Amino acid sequence: MTDRVIPLADHRYAAAIPAVPAVALPANGLLADTLGRPLRDLRISVTDRCNFRCSYCMPKEVFDKNYQFLPHSSLLSFEEITRVARLFVAHGVQKIRLTGGEPLLRKNLEVLVEMLSALATPAGEPLDITLTTNASVLAKKAQSLKDAGLQRVTVSLDALDDAIFRRMNDADFPVAEVLRGIEVAERVGLGPIKVNMVVKRGTNDHEIIAMARHFKGTPIILRFIEYMDVGATNGWRMDEVLPSAQVIARLDAEFGVEPIEPNYSGEVAERWRYVDGSGEIGVISSVTQAFCRDCNRARLSTEGKLFLCLFATHGHDLRALLRGGYADAQIEAAIGEIWRGRGDRYSELRGAMAADVGNGERRVEMHYIGG
Ligand code: SF4
Repeated sequence: MTDRVIPLADHRYAAAIPAVPAVALPANGLLADTLGRPLRDLRISVTDRCNFRCSYCMPKEVFDKNYQFLPHSSLLSFEEITRVARLFVAHGVQKIRLTGGEPLLRKNLEVLVEMLSALATPAGEPLDITLTTNASVLAKKAQSLKDAGLQRVTVSLDALDDAIFRRMNDADFPVAEVLRGIEVAERVGLGPIKVNMVVKRGTNDHEIIAMARHFKGTPIILRFIEYMDVGATNGWRMDEVLPSAQVIARLDAEFGVEPIEPNYSGEVAERWRYVDGSGEIGVISSVTQAFCRDCNRARLSTEGKLFLCLFATHGHDLRALLRGGYADAQIEAAIGEIWRGRGDRYSELRGAMAADVGNGERRVEMHYIGG
């Protein structure tokens, strides 16, 4: 195992305050970036804290007991999150995913879910409000989240075997409790539930078949995610990536699988199903099959910085506008300008871009902007 601690280039303070256009063009829901991609999906990180230390996201060597998490005062309040979300919805956002860190560690998250659930698209359609969690407290929270208006959950689960699970997330937490969280979430109606497994060759790839067998025959959609070079701390190496094509080959050899059509343009996972009709699986292949061409996702950090790509090196400080006395129309126009100038497609260019993209800029950490 290589030494993989790299000094963390902290992005929390490296974000420009966006320019507010002199003429605030009202949003018309038709916004597109330089590659013609609309803005449809907003991922909101509600906390930078987590009770796990997944090696591909928050390696414990860096995020140790001395790590300074954000003070509560610097986090966006639920009112600020709802205000800025409304402005994104005016630009065409139809789906909001709550992330972290571990979002369920943010106190009273149900209150925010209720506030966001009251928003609607310009056409009057309800938003698709979903959440990604490690399910450590899902069993306790599922009913109140559902009652508040949450529609679906995605659960991160990298193994069924407790020892391998621990190797992936450095937390002494029983898999059984994660599975109980999934069960309760399903019972209260937070489905179809998706389960995300990050596959790291040589660490948990031998759990692929066991995971598939466990969820096969249920409505739960298991997705296999290629291990990614997110941030600058996880010591990513290409030889620890198991390409999705090999994951599919293993599943096909064991169960028989076939591809199915995407649900919508910009869907992250490539969809497959078991030929015997007993369920759906997916693969998310940011390393070997980049899907930047129709990436319609924006990410809001825990304290209000807008990032245009999971692998971005800088953000745009919307909190400064929210707390700076700017009117909604001005902030809306500033968001429009930022998105119109977007050209991000890191996964397509991966080979050409090193961890340090020069002039000291490093990629933002995933726990800070959500996966
Ligand atoms: S690498 Fe960036 S642009 Fe490409 S799909 Fe991922 S988030 Fe979107």
